[in-house]
Amino acid sequence: MPAPILRVAVPSPVARLFDYRNPQLLDIPIGARVRVPFGHRTITGLVLETAEHSDYPSAQLKAIKKPLDSESLLTPTLLHLLQWSAAYYHYPIGMVVQTLLPNLLNHGKAAKLEQIQRWQLTEAGKTATPPSNAHKQQRILNLCQSPKTDALLREQGIAKADLKKLEQYGWLKAESDYSLPKNGENPDAPHKLNAEQQHVMDKINRESGFRCCLIDGVTGSGKTEIYLQLIQRQLELGKQCLVLIPEINLTPQTLSRFQARFRQPIAVLHSKLSNQQRLQAWLLARAGLCPIVLGTRSALWTPLPNLGLIIIDEEHDHSYKQQSGFYYSARDLSIVLAKQCQIPVVLGSATPSLQSLHQVAQGRYQHLHLSKRAAGANMPDYHLLDLRQKNLNQGLAQPLITAIEQCLAQQQQVLVYINRRGYAPTYMCHDCGWICDCPHCHAHQTYHAEDKHLHCHHCGYRQAVPNECPDCQSQSLRCVGYGSERISQILTDLFPQARILRIDSDSTRGKFTLGKMLEQIHRGEVDILVGTQMLAKGHHFPKVSLVAVLNVDNGLFSVDFRAAERMAQGLIQVAGRAGRAEIKGKVLIQTHHPEHLILNTLVTQGYAGFAKVALEERELTQLPPYHFLALLQVQAKKLERLQAFLAQAHQLAEPYCQHFAVELLGPLDAPMALRAGFHRGQLLLQAPKRANLHQVLDAWLAALNQIPKRGIRWQLDVDPQDLY
Ligand code: ADP
Ligand code: ZN
Ligand code: ZN
Repeated sequence: MPAPILRVAVPSPVARLFDYRNPQLLDIPIGARVRVPFGHRTITGLVLETAEHSDYPSAQLKAIKKPLDSESLLTPTLLHLLQWSAAYYHYPIGMVVQTLLPNLLNHGKAAKLEQIQRWQLTEAGKTATPPSNAHKQQRILNLCQSPKTDALLREQGIAKADLKKLEQYGWLKAESDYSLPKNGENPDAPHKLNAEQQHVMDKINRESGFRCCLIDGVTGSGKTEIYLQLIQRQLELGKQCLVLIPEINLTPQTLSRFQARFRQPIAVLHSKLSNQQRLQAWLLARAGLCPIVLGTRSALWTPLPNLGLIIIDEEHDHSYKQQSGFYYSARDLSIVLAKQCQIPVVLGSATPSLQSLHQVAQGRYQHLHLSKRAAGANMPDYHLLDLRQKNLNQGLAQPLITAIEQCLAQQQQVLVYINRRGYAPTYMCHDCGWICDCPHCHAHQTYHAEDKHLHCHHCGYRQAVPNECPDCQSQSLRCVGYGSERISQILTDLFPQARILRIDSDSTRGKFTLGKMLEQIHRGEVDILVGTQMLAKGHHFPKVSLVAVLNVDNGLFSVDFRAAERMAQGLIQVAGRAGRAEIKGKVLIQTHHPEHLILNTLVTQGYAGFAKVALEERELTQLPPYHFLALLQVQAKKLERLQAFLAQAHQLAEPYCQHFAVELLGPLDAPMALRAGFHRGQLLLQAPKRANLHQVLDAWLAALNQIPKRGIRWQLDVDPQDLY
């Protein structure tokens, strides 16, 4: 018997469900959308509970306008994940729904797969002879000798009515299909696994049910090959697989390897899809028509009724954490989902997150190693280049220049890694010390030489380059420091014969630019690659035998406690690009701090050694993964408003924190205290027990929600990746 009350998640900051009447007692399942009146508008909400009675006076209850779905849009496990994550991240459930559903579904569009029609000749059509003056009919018959889609025929000026007429004559027939993504007709054969890979495969396949396996394998050790074979096995069992990767646009190779291996259609979900493409891919997966879903963070929310395996590639990557609105971690939630589905989840990385390594140490994840490169290449050697008291040739140490020379002489490629785009990070007056800052942020503007201007990378503000100092009118204005543009310029001057290619977000702006550049590199048309972290991800550059890392020191002394972890991961990842084929790679790292413990351990003992030291440090300083954090981020145009709110929030939190033994830190300035015209401050909660932290958050947020938000905005980040 359908229930008279529906509890509906609507996109509202109020963190609860809203009750609506179902006066006609329509049969509306949980997980279906309904149109409901909300304020003065009619909006789309998702039914999450039903009830016989409401706690609200019935006079206040409005009736739903109409149901949109006759069945649940989501699987029961996703419905569980939705509720779980709203509670865990303390984010309004209606806003969670809005984040996870494809946009068009949020806007009330029907959850219906688009079909395309293909027209082709019938047996009769093949021998049909239209009257000699029926030119159009003849043309249609000619066109439809092989199947043609509606859209294509329309482009040829043929209307549906013309086609229908020939269908009536029995000359044409139409077949509808979902235009599934097409993969290889002749799929690539799987590699025969080496002993290490086979061992990992067997371990993962040995048991069924929920398990979290961490494949800790150096770059090129054959992790992707294992994913492909794990998926193959699931497909044979009739199951679906979800594969998350950090960024599809940066790693087109991963996608093409998947497409070349499987005949089955792959639904690809990433941020560059149009709304319609996203909806179609989502619905195809939901209907079980695409057994493989490959996508970035948000693909986690694809309903897969028959899910058998989840794979998180490059699990350490920070893009798995959403950094606005609903601050969820797709990596962490995938584990919750796998548990709910009772299936294995496989995390893979050459540089596992400290969090995952800690879980391994606690016995919660299974640790699986791949220590050798699958294709037989050697691991690179690391060398620190001590910059202290050395003469630098425009930011480059002499031994580095010599090494580049040698590498070029041997016709091999060089990769120069500089984690900064633009020409120079600072533009300064040599006479008075004035620095061109962003008027809206506490940050310097970056000098871009290519289309000469100054640019703030934090808020996007741009301005023309001044000819004289605004403070002292001097004309001796200088660029200080190095970005990727400047390094390419310097290398061009030093090695005029070398073909130099710069890869960063400025140089790869066009849709196909990056792909074309990668092809150029693979064809050997490039001698020196200069790039930012874009180059550190997933690419295979078999001819690169020297990697030069220019500014590693930034990561050693940052205010952000994760900076060292990120530096280490970036360095190992970029080093992993070197010497993947027959040549042994060499990695040269310029530093002013060659004795720094973290850097040294990394270089002498590799990532595992680094991770051990870094984890000890985290334990000592009571930071994650040993303790748990939540960050209240507040911003306001007016500084007084910010300070008043932070003081009030602090006061409200204090008694709860004391009661539950949670440490309350702050109010603190955000690392960037002014950004895009907003003053930013934060309160940090730190707790040895996760449960305690969440008890404080429950009580505290309820109280915070009572304070009118005059001129301020706040948001909560549970398990923050970055200090705000
Ligand atoms: P990872 O994902 O760990 O970086 P890949 O799976 O991409 O490693 O493997 C690196 C290279 O080695 C790829 O070119 C891949 O085709 C190849 N490869 C992987 N496994 C094998 C194997 N068992 N035998 C031969 N080549 C392999
Ligand atoms: Zn000046
Ligand atoms: Zn700015």
